[in-house]
Amino acid sequence: MTIDLHTHSSVSDGTETPAELLATAVHAGVTVLALTDHDTTAGWAEAAEARPSALTLVRGAEFSTVSPDGRGGEVTAHLLGYLFDPADSAIAAEQERVRGSRRERVRAMGERMAAGGLPIDGEALLARLPADSPAGRPHIGQALLDAGVVGSVSEAFEHVLAKDGPYYVEKYNTPIATAVAMIRAAGGVAVFAHAFARRRGPCVDASVIRDLAAAGLDGVEVDHPDHGPEDRAALRDLAAETGLLVTGSSDYHGTNKTTAIAAETTAPAEFEALVGRAEERASGVEVLAGRDPGAA
Ligand code: AMP
Ligand code: ZN
Ligand code: FE
Ligand code: FE
Repeated sequence: MTIDLHTHSSVSDGTETPAELLATAVHAGVTVLALTDHDTTAGWAEAAEARPSALTLVRGAEFSTVSPDGRGGEVTAHLLGYLFDPADSAIAAEQERVRGSRRERVRAMGERMAAGGLPIDGEALLARLPADSPAGRPHIGQALLDAGVVGSVSEAFEHVLAKDGPYYVEKYNTPIATAVAMIRAAGGVAVFAHAFARRRGPCVDASVIRDLAAAGLDGVEVDHPDHGPEDRAALRDLAAETGLLVTGSSDYHGTNKTTAIAAETTAPAEFEALVGRAEERASGVEVLAGRDPGAA
């Protein structure tokens, strides 16, 4: 089994449509794939439609959250939600709120960039995306690449799009404990994404993960391209101490990032435990398409 539990399609800020993403996954030998677009479930239907029988598809989403940092302040954090009820209205409403704020922020960052002399028109950029899109910095990065300002989207993140850069604007983010509770109330499983991805900016202290574990968090993403060996070891120890599930994932974004699909993977036993939790919370209802509840 090759299990990749964190990938993005062009419905958020990846570069492949859900159908193309599934084809890429199958080509790379992936047998279990989670589609985890930012703050939306809009890609789920196309992915389910395109799913070949050999691939297990895990419905997921990456939630934009804000967390205590454990040092008296706050940091933004990403939370992966898996197998929650697609019809849950609280999650749908919260994701819509975040998407609206994301588009406002593209406008605001675009204005700052234009004022600074960069050839970016946030409004025009948004007009090219679906009306309800979770627009993000990678979309601005793509526009900067198209305009020849940078040589790659990753290069755009080094300065122009950086959190501590001159044009950054924050968006609305859900308090992380609220997001955990929402995902669980909708029958889903909540996993803290790339908790120690320090190159992106300040991260939570270990104490925050302990507190969240006590408050219902299900797991932590340990093997992630942005985690160094020491941080992986620390997260693995934390998981062992608190009973959190351990996942590993590529966080694939197509050509918006340099990471290959399945560059990091999840152990089958951890995946089975994750599915088991969702099945328990859904009181036995089938949670995975084409897969009997409880089948290994
Ligand atoms: P946003 O959610 O709009 O703040 O943008 C953050 C997104 O950009 C996340 O999905 C990251 O995975 C992605 N990202 C962060 N750093 C980079 C990078 N160096 N190159 C490409 N994408 C990145
Ligand atoms: Zn992304
Ligand atoms: Fe993320
Ligand atoms: Fe991601």
